[in-house]
Amino acid sequence: MKTIIEPFRIKTVEPIYMSSREERARWIEEAYYNLFALDAERVLIDLLTDSGTAAMSSRQWAALMQGDESYAGSPSFDRFEEAVRRLMPFRFIIPTHQGRAAEKILFSIAGGPGKVIPSNTHFDTTRANIEFTGAEAVDLPIEEASYPELEHPFKGNMDVGRLEELIRRLGPERVPLCMLTVTNNSGGGQPVSMANIRAVSEVCHRYGVPLFLDACRFAENAYFIKLREPGYADRSVLEIVREMFSYADGCTMSAKKDGLANIGGWLALNDEAWAQQARTLLILTEGFPTYGGLAGRDLEAIAVGLEEVIDEDYLRYRIASTQYVGRHLIEAGVPIVRPVGGHAVYLDARAMLPHIPPLQYPGQALAVELYVHGGVRGCEIGTVMFGRQSDGSEKPARMDLVRLAIPRRVYTQSHMDYVIEVVVEVYERRHQLRGMRIVWEPPVLRHFTARFAYR
Ligand SMILES: *Cc1c(COP(=O)(O)O)cnc(C)c1O
Repeated sequence: MKTIIEPFRIKTVEPIYMSSREERARWIEEAYYNLFALDAERVLIDLLTDSGTAAMSSRQWAALMQGDESYAGSPSFDRFEEAVRRLMPFRFIIPTHQGRAAEKILFSIAGGPGKVIPSNTHFDTTRANIEFTGAEAVDLPIEEASYPELEHPFKGNMDVGRLEELIRRLGPERVPLCMLTVTNNSGGGQPVSMANIRAVSEVCHRYGVPLFLDACRFAENAYFIKLREPGYADRSVLEIVREMFSYADGCTMSAKKDGLANIGGWLALNDEAWAQQARTLLILTEGFPTYGGLAGRDLEAIAVGLEEVIDEDYLRYRIASTQYVGRHLIEAGVPIVRPVGGHAVYLDARAMLPHIPPLQYPGQALAVELYVHGGVRGCEIGTVMFGRQSDGSEKPARMDLVRLAIPRRVYTQSHMDYVIEVVVEVYERRHQLRGMRIVWEPPVLRHFTARFAYR
């Protein structure tokens, strides 16, 4: 069967304004060619992020009504805790308002000057929270991850040899914990194999270093294991998820990804002394331990989302629709990062637009053109985002990409067909695209607010 049929019916609809090319050209000019400055209502298909953008199910909306907003001892917390523990059987489950709040608390306890925290690849908020404490964040992806065109079933894996070498060189006392991001977001949404999780865990535990999963896309990762790793085809996703977490000592989680919720997160761990400290910090910055930074109704929505996200019909549709977009773009000759990951397709703007040098922002030029041409909003991940150096100079990022992140359960296959058409049409007239320049930028995180003009 070629058609990906969405394993759900649509009960509530949100109209999309069918803008014209002329309108979009005017709006993006008014926004100084920054896609973050656009009103979301002026976007036809919004692929800026898959974070917090999922559609909730009728069961989740119904669960909101059961939210108990008691300050302490809310039964909504019990339901949340039970749903988390069914998948991630850690002793202490600490709710937070989103993933980065869990990171902030974890690294306030474990980080600090002189400490080094390895990962396959740290997500940017994780890295920022580690560095904020004075600790160092080190990425140890496998060698294959450096080649965008190279196919590998588990390109998110960590280089276990380099991990062991790092722990030996520094001594385990300087490595308070090791992270493993599943799937590896910054590496293109690439999965990590069970064999790799197990091997990383073995090395960590041999030296007494706890292993934490950055678990944001745990269900997508588990489904890739089922599809690609020998021995897992007949295991249920629930069993695979439990096995993944059985090798870890804790995790940080953003419910805005595989929680199928619009807000939320948690820190889960086994160590009692760390859990005590974490709850103390939680009360300072997030809230009482039975609600964290959330309302009781949010905890209910997450509890139901965690049941739905491991549904294999859902995961088959989810992964198939991302692969579908990637496969059609590859067939049309569009350069993309390979293989296609779980939550996004990354267009290789530098390869597509060789006539635009990196310091004229090929990723930005492509992202703007996708919007003007078809109302599709993606996100530049390249020289605009990473080019400004701390000494004030500017240099090309490692790659110039445009990420098309697919929200969960929001768009149908015909929306994806439309996205493919838009990208292919822009690709066919790629020689007409012009470079851009920045006319104003803030001192840090310039991609959110910078103003652009055409060269
Ligand atoms: C989104 C994300 C986070 C941070 O979660 P927030 O809920 O956005 O704070 C951390 N790690 C990874 C891999 C993520 O994708």
